[in-house]
Amino acid sequence: MIRKLFDKVFSRGRKAAPDRHPVVPGPSTIPVGQHGVTRDRISNNARRVTDTLQSHGYKAYVVGGAVRDIMLDRTPKDYDVATDATPEQVNAVFRRSRIIGRRFRLVHVMFGMDTIEVSTFRASQVSADHHQHKDEHGRLLRDNVFGDQAEDAVRRDFTVNALYYDPSTEEVIDYCGGVRDLEHRTLRMIGDPVERYREDPVRMLRAVRLAAKLGLNIERHTEAPIRELAPLMQNVPASRLFEEMLKLLLSGHAVACVERLRSQGLHHGLLPMLDVILEQPLGERFVMLALARTDERILEDKGVSPGFLFAALLWHEVLAAWNAAKDRGVPPVPAMHEAMDQVLSVQAEKISIPRRFGVDMKEIWLLQWRFEQRSGKRPYRVLESPKFRAGYDFLLLRCESGEVDAEVGDWWTRFQDASDGDRETMLLPPDKGAPKKRRRRRRPADAAGGDAPSLNGPEGGDA
Ligand code: ATP
Ligand code: MG
Repeated sequence: MIRKLFDKVFSRGRKAAPDRHPVVPGPSTIPVGQHGVTRDRISNNARRVTDTLQSHGYKAYVVGGAVRDIMLDRTPKDYDVATDATPEQVNAVFRRSRIIGRRFRLVHVMFGMDTIEVSTFRASQVSADHHQHKDEHGRLLRDNVFGDQAEDAVRRDFTVNALYYDPSTEEVIDYCGGVRDLEHRTLRMIGDPVERYREDPVRMLRAVRLAAKLGLNIERHTEAPIRELAPLMQNVPASRLFEEMLKLLLSGHAVACVERLRSQGLHHGLLPMLDVILEQPLGERFVMLALARTDERILEDKGVSPGFLFAALLWHEVLAAWNAAKDRGVPPVPAMHEAMDQVLSVQAEKISIPRRFGVDMKEIWLLQWRFEQRSGKRPYRVLESPKFRAGYDFLLLRCESGEVDAEVGDWWTRFQDASDGDRETMLLPPDKGAPKKRRRRRRPADAAGGDAPSLNGPEGGDA
C-alpha cells in the first residue's frame, strides 16, 4: 500500500528522502484512491467521535499512531483524534467524556471499555513561546496554547505521527512529509531534534520504542543527539517515566527496545540499577529471558503482569541486597524484607512504580525464598498462595537463566500435579528442606522459622 501510494504521490523527479527535515511545504492532501485507507479501517468509536464533532461544525481528524499503523498495515492499539474544538467544547458535545491532564489538557471520550483521546490543535513553538512554561533545561512544563492544524502538525514528534485522516472524506493530510518517511521506513523528528528532545526528553524513549516496534530506522540527525542528551531523562517526572517504560516493555518488542536503549546509552537514566544488572552475566541473562517471554506472550495476545515484569527487572538487585543482609547475620525473611524495601525505595525516587505493582512484586520475590522450603507443611502452603503461578513461572526463569539448579524447578513442576501420596514421598528431610531454625531474636514474627512470611515486613510499606 505504501509503495503504491509513494509512487503515485511522490515519484515524479524526487530523490530519496533528504537527511534533514525540510521546511514545512504546506500540506499535501492525499485522496483515498492513492492511499487506500477506507473509512471502514477506522474503529467505529473513533469515527463516531470525528462524525459528531464535524456535525457540530468543528474540524476533526484521526491522527498520530493510528493513521501511521494503518498505513503500515498494522492494527492500531488506540485512537487519537485532533480537533479545533477546545477541551471544554469537546466535553460539552460528549456526555461520557472528561477533561484530563495539566501539562497537556485533553479530553477522554468513553465508550464502554474503549477511550478515544481527543486533543485540541496546539500552537506552534514560535507563537506559543511567550505562554509556554519551560524549566532550566528547556523542558516544556505546559503546552496548552491552542493553534491551527498546520501548527499542530509541527508540534508533534515524528513526521510519521503527524498524518491526519478525515473519515468523512477519506483523505490523508500530510504537513511534514510523513507519508514519504513511512515509505522509506524512516523515523524523523519534526524540527530541530536537539530542541525537541530538550522540550521533552521522553521523545528519546519514544524514538527507540517506535523504531523497534515498527521496524523503522531512526534518521541520523534524529538519532545523533540522543546519546549526549540521555542525562536529560533525569528531569522527567517519575510517573511519566513509569508510563513510558511500561509502554516500551509491553510493546511486544521489549528485547529489541532494551538492546537499542543500551546501544544509545539511554538505559542509565531509565530504571536505576538496570544498567548494573545488565552488566552481570547472570542478571543480563535473566532480564533478557524475562523480556523475551513477555514479548512472546504479547505477540500471542496473552496477558502480561507489570508486577511480574518489574519483579524480574529488579530481581538481581534484590538478590544482591538479600545476600548482603544475610551475610551480616540477618535471618532470611527479615533480610528479604530489608532488600525489597531498599530496592523499591531507590526505584520510587526515579520511576514511581504504582503501589499495587509493588505488592505483587514483593509476593513474587518472597515466594522465591519459600520455594527453597521443601519439607514439612510449607510446600502445601506455597501451593495455596494466590501468586503461586507467577512465583513459579519466575522460578522457572531463574532456573533457565542458570541462577538456580534446574532440579528445584522440576521438583515444583512435579509437586503441583502429584497425588497426595506422591507428594508425601517427595518432601525433603527437614534439615535439607529448610535452613536450620535460628534462635528467635528481636522480631519474633519475622524470624527465619516463620512459615509464611508476611508481606508487612519489618520496614513496612512498598513503592
Ligand atoms: P502508540 O499509541 O502506538 O504507542 P502513538 O504515536 O500513537 O504510539 P501516543 O502516545 O498515543 O503515541 O500519542 C499520540 C500522538 O500524539 C503521537 O502520534 C504524536 O503525534 C503525538 N505525541 C505523543 N507524544 C508526544 C510527544 N512527547 N511530543 C510530541 N508529540 C507527541
Ligand atoms: Mg496512540
